[in-house]
Amino acid sequence: MRAAVLHEIGQDKLEVVDDVEAVGFGPGKVRIRVRATGLCHSDVSAMSGVLPQPAPFIPGHEGAGEILDVGDGVTGLTQGQRVLLCWLPACGSCPACKRGQTQLCLAGFMNAGTPNFKRPGGDVFGFAGTGTFTEEVVVDAGCAVPIPDDVPFDIAALIGCGVTTGLGAAINTAKVEAGSSVAVIGCGGVGISAIQGAKLQGAAQIVAVDPVESRREAALRFGATEAVAPDALADAKQRITAGEGFDYVFEVVGKSATARTAYENTRRGGTLCVVGAGAMDDNLQLNMFELFFDEKRILPSMYGGGDVLRSYERAIALWRAGRIDLESLITHRVPLAGINEALEQMRTGAALRTCIEI
Ligand SMILES: [Zn+2]
Ligand SMILES: [Zn+2]
Repeated sequence: MRAAVLHEIGQDKLEVVDDVEAVGFGPGKVRIRVRATGLCHSDVSAMSGVLPQPAPFIPGHEGAGEILDVGDGVTGLTQGQRVLLCWLPACGSCPACKRGQTQLCLAGFMNAGTPNFKRPGGDVFGFAGTGTFTEEVVVDAGCAVPIPDDVPFDIAALIGCGVTTGLGAAINTAKVEAGSSVAVIGCGGVGISAIQGAKLQGAAQIVAVDPVESRREAALRFGATEAVAPDALADAKQRITAGEGFDYVFEVVGKSATARTAYENTRRGGTLCVVGAGAMDDNLQLNMFELFFDEKRILPSMYGGGDVLRSYERAIALWRAGRIDLESLITHRVPLAGINEALEQMRTGAALRTCIEI
């Protein structure tokens, strides 16, 4: 079958090949025919080596499709069922799950070191234990989450990562309060979802910050009250908060430099919510005086910072009610053969989300 493969970490292009096989099917597993997958920034970060990932590998972790086969012992899933892919399924029995912090469950991640695919030349890994830039993938049954019939595959794919991550950061992690001031640094698919989440929570001002003009324009359509380039953030802070800083600042880039900017633009006692996925060697510097004296709360948000299954349901309910716009998040569409085009649209910031139709 066809799939897009990265041969070595650091390469910036994928090769679409047709000699890949999805492996590992058996008890507790399901085989999925992928229909739509979004290109998320984490895929690019894994390709460049910012996020740890063994190679060769098939990127993609934001996907949806139909179940082809169900392994022994799997309950609640049937052949032909429409599902979205959850890249971090909760086991339900580890200490994190028992505490109710299922987004911190690492049980599913244990599979990330096991190859999901093979080619005549050898094993191929799947990104984050999934790998959706392919026609078929075999995953743990917990990774396959049934979706209602009225949710199209492209929308379901987005809910599988970017939308859940952004909405959850605003709703679950930061718990944005009505009437508050918010800044969102980085306005791709996740940042726009954080903007929609802040709007749902009733934020009075939402300032979108991004160097790309088309993204700033998009942010305004999705609920930002103002959109500025990074060099105009200081001015916006002055005008909107009288220099005090924003009640909430979301860092949706994954770099220490933007996290530092976000920290400085958070008011004393306000909340910096870190959403971006960054590198292990990129250290954020804070001095011990400001840390205690300014009492800013630093809240990282992983996969929406809450129960992912609950977050999916909430996203679907909000989308169905017309309270969030997910269709317009998909600004570009390509077939699997156009995957390198999609990567370019991501790198230049031209796309909010590119949907790859498989
Ligand atoms: Zn668990
Ligand atoms: Zn993602």
